[in-house]
Amino acid sequence: METYRLFIDGEYVDSTSGKWIESEDPYSGEVWARVPSGNSADVDRAVAAAKRAFEDPSWAELSATARGKLMWKLGDLINENADRLAALEVRDNGKLFAEMKAQMLYHPEWWYYFGGLADKIEGSIMPIDRKDAFSYTLYEPLGVVGAITAWNSPLLFIAWKCAPALAAGNTVVVKPSEFTSASSLEYAMLVKEAGFPDGVFNVVSGYGAQAGAALVDHPDVAKITFTGSDLSGQKIYENAARSIKHISLELGGKSPNIVFEDADLDMAAKGAVSGIFGASGQTCVAGSRLLVQDSIHDEFMDRLLDLAKNARIGNPMDKNTHVGPITTRQQYEKVISYIEIAKEEGAELVFGGQPCTVPGGAGDQFVQPTIFTNVSNDMRIAQEEVFGPVLSVLKFKDEDEAIQIGNDVVYGLAAGVWTRDIRRAMRFTKALKAGTVWVNTYRAFSYMMPFGGMKRSGLGRESGVAAIREYLQVKSVWLSTATELPNPFIIQ
Ligand code: NAD
Repeated sequence: METYRLFIDGEYVDSTSGKWIESEDPYSGEVWARVPSGNSADVDRAVAAAKRAFEDPSWAELSATARGKLMWKLGDLINENADRLAALEVRDNGKLFAEMKAQMLYHPEWWYYFGGLADKIEGSIMPIDRKDAFSYTLYEPLGVVGAITAWNSPLLFIAWKCAPALAAGNTVVVKPSEFTSASSLEYAMLVKEAGFPDGVFNVVSGYGAQAGAALVDHPDVAKITFTGSDLSGQKIYENAARSIKHISLELGGKSPNIVFEDADLDMAAKGAVSGIFGASGQTCVAGSRLLVQDSIHDEFMDRLLDLAKNARIGNPMDKNTHVGPITTRQQYEKVISYIEIAKEEGAELVFGGQPCTVPGGAGDQFVQPTIFTNVSNDMRIAQEEVFGPVLSVLKFKDEDEAIQIGNDVVYGLAAGVWTRDIRRAMRFTKALKAGTVWVNTYRAFSYMMPFGGMKRSGLGRESGVAAIREYLQVKSVWLSTATELPNPFIIQ
């Protein structure tokens, strides 16, 4: 069994608690690693290291260009280690190796992009309305950033959060999910190898209610950037308010994927399948509410079921596998419970709906891709995030109804529209209340493209130029060129 240690101030150290969290391989069911259960004393150490590093000339006075070069070096190292890191992720989260490998090979782009942006953080000179003033703005880093991540793509979230945070000149303490911490702890060594000064990047594993909460409460943490469920996000938002911290929240979703009668139905069926069964539905943008125009409903369902029937469930390391296990036991039970809820609500189960076992997979955390039809929008299965391979299919008559159903949900993370009519596509991109709208595609991401939620799906944006602003604060500077001061009792 592998043993991991916390990464604080440039070295691996033991946790103060001496307690451990076991990491289970969701495919084999084996406990393959243990990671430290960090507590508030560990968070104190990590935040102190990050604060020192933030003020230390080795980081604070490093030119932005040099900061960017460190980031490029890190991107290269991640590229060289892509296979190893991808396999580690699979061991912890059970997602397909093929997907994790592709993710790891794309991952360096965040470091390259934000590395390039580091020395392009420019303030403005204001054409100020006073004859004797010279006024400008500076964009300055916030300080220590606490990055709390979810279990589905731990390393990708590090890139999304830490690349812009470090490009802006902050230092970070990462608190990965208690279920999938190994890869983040391993990643820390690459950050050191890239040449970042000690203390700039720290990782404290541990439970949310302990290490996570301590990071949120810490007075020396200037910002929390969080990816996880809306309920945890709400709690973190409330707690962070006590010390008036900056905050970004990337939360859950219940995204509508809308298929019109004029769409390329084969493409739309593929988009619907990848939208919900990719990553076994364990993605925040899962297209879990499939809205199908009633005129093509039956025909479209035939195509969808033909595709779903081909899904091969199995070992996530096998390149022929389409659907892997659910990452955690707790999440598996939640998925199964939602299938029961949907049946009780009167939704019609037309595919899957059963737990299943696969050869060699002793983890017993597999769920068949599952499709419910005759779902109405007031059912829990249409409104609540399942975070598993469970699709709800809803019918609509026309555009107005599609928009009404599409937006009638507390979340607003993403949406998909399948149509050949460009005017309809434009109307929908405007009308849908979601941070991302895909037209004739689904689950597309780029380091250049801002990503984030509306409504209960969160605050702030990751990726793109918008992301670096989340880690900067504006300072306004007034220089007076006046040679004498007017009457000090009267403000002019
Ligand atoms: P979670 O909310 O249970 O946990 C996320 C992280 O928060 C973990 O590191 C956990 O330890 C920590 N945490 C929990 N309670 C905390 C507290 N009170 N204080 C501080 N930290 C705390 O989420 P999860 O189950 O790991 O992830 C699944 C959820 O994440 C889903 O809702 C999914 O939609 C969402 N998600 C969102 C995005 C996005 O970019 N919008 C991406 C992936 C996942």
